[in-house]
Amino acid sequence: MLLARQLLELILPTASLLASECGNNESPEMIERKIRDFIAVETWVFDLDNTLYPHHLNLWEQVDGRIRDYIAGFLKVTHDEAFRLQKDYYRRYGTSLRGLMEEHGLDPDGFLELVHEIDYSPLTPDPALGAAIARLSGRKLILTNGTRRHAETVMRRLEIEEPFEDIFDIAAAELEPKPRPAVYDRFLARHRVDPAKAAIFEDLSRNLEVPHALGMTTVLVVPTGTREVFREEWELAGRDAPHVDHVTDDLTGFLRGIAGNA
Ligand SMILES: [Mg+2]
Repeated sequence: MLLARQLLELILPTASLLASECGNNESPEMIERKIRDFIAVETWVFDLDNTLYPHHLNLWEQVDGRIRDYIAGFLKVTHDEAFRLQKDYYRRYGTSLRGLMEEHGLDPDGFLELVHEIDYSPLTPDPALGAAIARLSGRKLILTNGTRRHAETVMRRLEIEEPFEDIFDIAAAELEPKPRPAVYDRFLARHRVDPAKAAIFEDLSRNLEVPHALGMTTVLVVPTGTREVFREEWELAGRDAPHVDHVTDDLTGFLRGIAGNA
């Protein structure tokens, strides 16, 4: 702890200089807060969808559409009704899968496989993001409500898989989705993560509430242009929530700032 404080004293005077070097518009106060919050971080936890690739690629919309089709076929309802149920279950259970399992006894394996059969071609290599993640000192882990296979495909296409130690997926979470507290408990135990020395990056504010309560540093990743993308208001709400420590619309730039300062 003493070492961290000494390091902080050494680093803080250079905060404004680093801000200009990073090419961002952060004030020295913001940089200072960033250093304080991230200096002790040993484990970097990343959500996958709409966090490690931008919302405007609409990859998640493909999954969303396939879930709707699946529900319409499985429950033999119209697409409008399937849409209503999908959103209702997503809100109430964390994922529509969980709602279908609990209310209709759905077998999850076929569902998970089918809804992830999407076109991954919008994803292209993001070497700048990969390099920014690799420069962070400590372990890097993925925590996703999707499947391992989906995560591996996404990361392979982005060419960012190398720095990551492991993926904690919906199967590892025993099919319980974020934001359920049990998921985070299982994740932290499985990977022996000390939450006080961990940071988490997510595009959904509600998924940061439990991590913040556990002592993790939380970063909400928001899209640069949200208008074109379908996102419900409740998802966008809560940006000023006390469980959100930092907000960024430029994950790579944000990580560069941390790696440059730490
Ligand atoms: Mg996400």
